[in-house]
Amino acid sequence: MRRVSIFGATGSIGENTVDLIARAPEEYDVVALSGGRNVARLAEQAIALNAEIAVTCYSECKQELAARLSGTGIDVGAGPEAIAEAAERPADWVMSAIVGAAGLAPGLAALEQGATLALANKESLVCAGALLMETARAHGAQVLPVDSEHSAVAQALVGEDISSVERVIITASGGAFRDWPLEDLPKATPEQAAKHPNWDMGQRITVDSASMFNKSLELIETREFFGFDPSQIEVVVHPQSLIHALVGFNDGALMAHVGPPDMRHAIGYALHHPERRHLPVERLDLVKIGRLDFREPCERRWPALRLAREVMRSGGVSGAAFNAAKEVALDAFLARQIRFTDMAAVVEEVLEAMERDGALKCDRMRLDHVMETDHLARKRAAEAAEQIATEA
Ligand code: NAD
Ligand code: MG
Repeated sequence: MRRVSIFGATGSIGENTVDLIARAPEEYDVVALSGGRNVARLAEQAIALNAEIAVTCYSECKQELAARLSGTGIDVGAGPEAIAEAAERPADWVMSAIVGAAGLAPGLAALEQGATLALANKESLVCAGALLMETARAHGAQVLPVDSEHSAVAQALVGEDISSVERVIITASGGAFRDWPLEDLPKATPEQAAKHPNWDMGQRITVDSASMFNKSLELIETREFFGFDPSQIEVVVHPQSLIHALVGFNDGALMAHVGPPDMRHAIGYALHHPERRHLPVERLDLVKIGRLDFREPCERRWPALRLAREVMRSGGVSGAAFNAAKEVALDAFLARQIRFTDMAAVVEEVLEAMERDGALKCDRMRLDHVMETDHLARKRAAEAAEQIATEA
């Protein structure tokens, strides 16, 4: 029996992971599940999978979770510390599917006990890639990518010599506004941004797809995960979202990963790695698809891509500042305080101010420094968003 934990079990990635695990209950011992306010669903999952412990990230939800699990023998926890403690429970395979920087601490805790970390939480690589990968190395633990693009790159690299790679191309659907006239973007609402043309995902990542902050996180994720030079990593708009990434080799070959937009592929690949097993995803009919289109991403439409390049150039803890400022700007947009197009302005202002203050430099990455940078960037971003809101 493999011992598995799922952090962020009630989210979009979490539910897809639960779906795969629940199809073969005889193979898995479920250790920990975590969620947020949806304690009814978390309790349901914990009972169905017979988990050892269920944890909500909100302390005010603990009582309700305990009530729903009373008499089941399932342990109950609440709050960020309880989530990190649950990640310390020995497990062979841990899914990191919390959204945002909150996924970092449980991911590190899982690696410290030697678990294989299936990493959907790209924010932890963006904030503290060096720390995460170093922790994995120090504890002989493996990190497997669960983002569709990065899973695709990892699959294209199997059996290849990494030094023969010339470039990596990650694809972007372009999100909800890829065909909108540029002048309409400031009027875009959170509801419109949260409608993805191809993927069914959590609200935050869907809005980040429309702004391409998601792709900008993924550019940095590609660099941190595989170690490629930023000049080797390209983004191409591919409206059908069927090719997830391509790897170009020194002999001119491009290896593309093609598959339906269903995260159970990347999750299942990480769950069964290094084996391939049958997965319940659609089989593509190429004749029905007929064509695949590609476009260059316009940096006027998606300034987040330019900001990601800046982050990779400046290094240090700028990824943590970038992600934190982005999370605050996204909250402000979702709360209708700022416009869709103001999000990039907020992030750019925070990065520039922190770089001017020398606050983005670091020699050896430490968790406390990353968290301090995160707090400072959140504070600055809230101020910048407030200013934009009052000027409007
Ligand atoms: P989601 O919003 O659907 O779910 C997020 C989960 O995290 C929920 O269980 C929620 O309760 C929990 N959570 C939220 N805030 C938390 C906090 N502060 N502390 C602890 N737990 C918290 O998100 P999602 O779309 O499943 O995305 C999860 C992660 O996977 C993100 O990092 C996202 O970028 C990444 N990802 C998602 C997809 C996708 O298809 N949804 C694809 C690639 C990568
Ligand atoms: Mg992705």
